[in-house]
Amino acid sequence: MSKKIILALSAALAIALCAAVLAACGGHPHALTAHAAQAAGCTEAGNSAYWSCEACGKYFADADGKTEIEEGSWVLEPTGHTFAETWSFDETAHWHAATCGHGEAAEREPHTFDGEMCTVCEYRADSTEGLAFLPSDDGQSYVVAGIGTAEGADIVIPAQYRELPVTGIVDSAFQGNAAIESVFIPNSVTNLGWYAFADCTALRSVTMGSGVTLVGAAAFGGCTSLREVALGENVATLGANAFEGCTALQNISLPASLARIETYVFRDCTALERIAIPRGAAEVMEGAFYNCTALESADLGGAEEIAAGVFYGCAALESLSLPASVARVGDYAFFGCASLKEIAVPAGAASVGQYAFADCTALVSASLADTVKSIGTGAFSGCAALASVDLGGAEEMGLYAFEGCSSLTQVVLPAGLTRVEEGAFSDCTALEAVTMGGGVTEIGFMAFYNCTSLAHIRFEGTQAQWNAVVKDPDWALGAGEIEIVYA
Ligand SMILES: [Zn+2]
Ligand SMILES: [Zn+2]
Ligand SMILES: [Zn+2]
Repeated sequence: MSKKIILALSAALAIALCAAVLAACGGHPHALTAHAAQAAGCTEAGNSAYWSCEACGKYFADADGKTEIEEGSWVLEPTGHTFAETWSFDETAHWHAATCGHGEAAEREPHTFDGEMCTVCEYRADSTEGLAFLPSDDGQSYVVAGIGTAEGADIVIPAQYRELPVTGIVDSAFQGNAAIESVFIPNSVTNLGWYAFADCTALRSVTMGSGVTLVGAAAFGGCTSLREVALGENVATLGANAFEGCTALQNISLPASLARIETYVFRDCTALERIAIPRGAAEVMEGAFYNCTALESADLGGAEEIAAGVFYGCAALESLSLPASVARVGDYAFFGCASLKEIAVPAGAASVGQYAFADCTALVSASLADTVKSIGTGAFSGCAALASVDLGGAEEMGLYAFEGCSSLTQVVLPAGLTRVEEGAFSDCTALEAVTMGGGVTEIGFMAFYNCTSLAHIRFEGTQAQWNAVVKDPDWALGAGEIEIVYA
């Protein structure tokens, strides 16, 4: 094909295409004017972007004039004001305040009262007047700073101050106030500071709204008259020592929202009779119920960690079941629980800490799952009633683990145990028979000291192996004649 013919064909094609595009505007390109998008406001309409052609009067959705649209199809209706879900209120009415920056109010109505409380919003006609407030750091709310000029024994904290929500109570706000007898904390409050009501010795009753997530450390410590506590339904953390020394508190219901019980929260709550730890509270920290001497029952929920001294000295605790979630029983966890009769450490738990059950003088039976590999020093020492024990899969057992278990008549050491440590069964005066794995290589100082009834050791190995066991010269001091039986 010659160059001439190619050129001619190209020209014809160009003309044909041009005609198709230009036909829309009388043979000329559209003369397009752009109209920028404009967001709609609360009360003003807006528009999406569009283009108009002055020549043909048509409208387009694109800058190339390809998609023609109807006149007015770009209009965006006003959005209307937006309002808070929560109620604002004053002394006469409640409403939803606009959040769009316009001073509008929706659903403004007078309060409807049931007694002193509005049934709709958080207004209480009996809110305490004269309390001291401080603005919060962001200036968007207030926190209660103290009693101020307020009088009276029943404190009702208002949900709002100077038209802003009241969201907290500062550290030590009411500490040592001996006049307060009751306190109502509204839903707007999210946290109670450290020592907020500590040592309020006349305080009998606390009612907390659903906004509270944190009860600060020692917030109610030393409130020796406190009897009724309604914790908020969203409390996630009880701070350290939060209710320590609340010696009149018999019962407290812990909300399902609770994730963490910090150290010594209920220490010395000597009237507390029962406790149920919710499923979600995996961490029960050190000494949480230390010396709760009236505590009769405890439901541990889904606890994973029974930390050190959690039930130390809970002398009334008779029965308790460790949930399957427990991974470890901490040191001194049940030390001196002198009414506890039985304990089963469930499968999944790996260790029993030092002195975990020491001086549980009523404990008759203890059974450790095979998953328990380690038993701490003195773990069952002084358990004078202990008659039956299953040592699970213990591979390590600490010193004096069963010292003074004077009701124990026989014991089977787990096959994986290689060392019988110093004093392990000393003063087990009723112990008659011990079965020991052939893997034992060492028997420590006074391991069977004063086991005056010990007559038989069954050794699951050969006599040569027994002879090779490294035995402290005083391993059986005071234990009379022992017959060794070999496998
Ligand atoms: Zn046009
Ligand atoms: Zn608006
Ligand atoms: Zn109201």
